[in-house]
Amino acid sequence: MIYYKTDEEIELMRLSNLLVSKTLAHVGGLLKVGISGKSIDKSAEEFIRDNGGVPGFKGYRGFPSTLCMSVNDAVVHGIPSNREFISTDVVSIDCGVILNGFYGDAAFTFGFFDINDSVIKLLKVTRESLYKGIELVTVGNRIGDISYAIQHYCEKVHGYGIVRELVGHGVGKNLHEDPEVPNFGLKGKGPMLKEGIVIAIEPMVNMGNKGVKQLSDGWTILTKDGKPSAHFEHSVAVRKNGPDILSDHSFIENAIKINTEIVDISINI
Ligand code: MG
Ligand code: MG
Repeated sequence: MIYYKTDEEIELMRLSNLLVSKTLAHVGGLLKVGISGKSIDKSAEEFIRDNGGVPGFKGYRGFPSTLCMSVNDAVVHGIPSNREFISTDVVSIDCGVILNGFYGDAAFTFGFFDINDSVIKLLKVTRESLYKGIELVTVGNRIGDISYAIQHYCEKVHGYGIVRELVGHGVGKNLHEDPEVPNFGLKGKGPMLKEGIVIAIEPMVNMGNKGVKQLSDGWTILTKDGKPSAHFEHSVAVRKNGPDILSDHSFIENAIKINTEIVDISINI
């Protein structure tokens, strides 16, 4: 069942997502060659708790970490490890927090300074596809309108593979609520968007084939063909006048502008 949020609840969710956004910006400032994912995860947890929140993923169905950190051919749900980052890594980081009883959920993919142009393009296209989905978030549209826009842009226009096994979702007092928000589908199909629905839209886009497999750790999703993958996510409220993006990537993009080890995909390269 779909939970419709009041204006007051949406404002609380904006605060949850603001903390997620600031945590991802904090992480974006820490990403350096030679630092481990695990040390960044620890810092992210401290940041969230110092700001009055609770990590939303840690302990969720037994997930061990504050962040999902998915490197190179990992798509999503990677567990931060002691491996140190290298200059060709592409790292998708997903963050959830609970604040005032509501979840915030957003993700961003960071590329280190030696990633090649084809990977930079993958990041830019995946990010653009997220906004192509978001621009269709308005009362009266359907989930399938969002799904189709993302799939068309990534697969038809750019020849990438959209992951089928994992989808976006409603979000609120629960991390995963109805409706599901697939990154593939048909215009005019699926649940209708109504005022007060909050959805996490999160394209997971493979440079190669859409196929994925799960690592033996029981969490990490990898591309079958070993090619890189990207993941960008916003939590978005449905309003009469259009999308109300509750998370805010501008904090992350500003952190990247200062961190010379991460490619700035918000500018044209
Ligand atoms: Mg997420
Ligand atoms: Mg999500």
